[in-house]
Amino acid sequence: MHRASLIALVLCTLLLGSPLESFAADKLKALIVDGQNNHGVWPKTSKMMQRYLTETGLFTVDIATTAKQGVDPNFKPEFAKYAVVVTNYNGAPWPTDTQKSFISYVQNGGGLVVVHAADNAFGDWPEYNQMIGLGGWGGRNEKSGPYVFLDADGKEVRDTRPGPGGHHGAQHEFSVVVRDAEHPITKGMPREWLHVKDELYDFLRGPGDKMQILATAYADPKVGGSGRHEPMIFTVAYGKGRVFHTPMGHGDYSQECVGFITTLQRGTEWAATGKVTLPIPADFPTAEKLSQRPAKE
Ligand code: ZN
Repeated sequence: MHRASLIALVLCTLLLGSPLESFAADKLKALIVDGQNNHGVWPKTSKMMQRYLTETGLFTVDIATTAKQGVDPNFKPEFAKYAVVVTNYNGAPWPTDTQKSFISYVQNGGGLVVVHAADNAFGDWPEYNQMIGLGGWGGRNEKSGPYVFLDADGKEVRDTRPGPGGHHGAQHEFSVVVRDAEHPITKGMPREWLHVKDELYDFLRGPGDKMQILATAYADPKVGGSGRHEPMIFTVAYGKGRVFHTPMGHGDYSQECVGFITTLQRGTEWAATGKVTLPIPADFPTAEKLSQRPAKE
């Protein structure tokens, strides 16, 4: 570019504001929260999820990170600035004021996305458990609510028997079965698709109020599973807020699955807006074929 026109362009940009920035203003604002997790790979998976959401062209994505351990008194994200919050956090309680602002954010229509070990967090925070529907570990038991799953006929079961919440067998590749093909998140997915190696969370339990199961996976006892069809993609209504929850996504490799990526992107759009415009990509897995996009560093 000629030097004079470069200077002119820079001046224009300074005077008029960057066209890229004004475009960004039209995007949905998403916030990933992280900072503590029993999964040491969390800094990488947060970056991966940030990229997956940014790549759609729909979102700008910030990340808010707590201190490495303990209650972080300085962790005070402005949730209300965002259309959707994605949690990749499983650690110490948030400060009371942050908990309150999070509750009022979702109550008032903020979107929430819960991924894998985020449903292990805050076992004794009742409002959080209402939001996520089901959770595991963190002291969860029959007092947390029923086990919720589908039986062999595809009927929803709410099992109140005593026992701990949260378990998984050995990691393996497994089939995800769409149970509601009309919901915006799952619409257009193959009825069954193969998911890259992951932990298949089973025996999750919680209030399960206003919860809708969109897809399940069979936790095969041969690999140590519950023998139940466990919720893998589901939604929860909390106040005016929409919650999308997937217990998938243990490893960075699990999150390379195009099924996971697409589910995250569409689920996050739905949590933010109530609609899904993002298509099912051509490389989406099938019942027989895995599909993985190696993470860029
Ligand atoms: Zn895990």
